[in-house]
Amino acid sequence: MRDCIFCKIVEKEIPATVIYEDDDVLVFMDIGPIIKGHALVISKKHYDPVTETPDEMLAKLHVTAKRIAQAQMNGFGADGVNIMQNNGTAAGQEVPHIHVHVIPRFSDDGHHWNWNAKKYNDFDEMKKLADKLREQL
Ligand code: 5GP
Ligand code: ZN
Repeated sequence: MRDCIFCKIVEKEIPATVIYEDDDVLVFMDIGPIIKGHALVISKKHYDPVTETPDEMLAKLHVTAKRIAQAQMNGFGADGVNIMQNNGTAAGQEVPHIHVHVIPRFSDDGHHWNWNAKKYNDFDEMKKLADKLREQL
């Protein structure tokens, strides 16, 4: 797709530090790591967002992310790994081409997600949202 940074990386029009590739996916180092060693798993074909991505490709992306997570634990001695996938600018997505973040984590890396968990007003509020989701499945 024209004007897509990740398609340009697939086409080798923009350089990237590639870790792995096959017919379907490409894995390279994120240029702005949350933690050093942060990698991105992308589809070679342009898809976006997750709801428009074929199930087989999603499976491939996540199985590849699992392999990269294992490599980060073995290669860096990572104590944990965050696997993330953003959809839409409201969710913090910057590059609209499906990609899975694989971020190595260390007990002493000092990074916090500021998770900031909210509270429902009451059980009924949560139940109504659950009902809405169930209706859509
Ligand atoms: P998003 O916010 O869309 O989930 O994540 C996009 C990621 O792509 C960011 O973590 C950003 O650092 C990374 N990124 C953006 N442009 C480039 C690039 O040209 N090369 C590489 N290697 N990573 C990029
Ligand atoms: Zn693209």
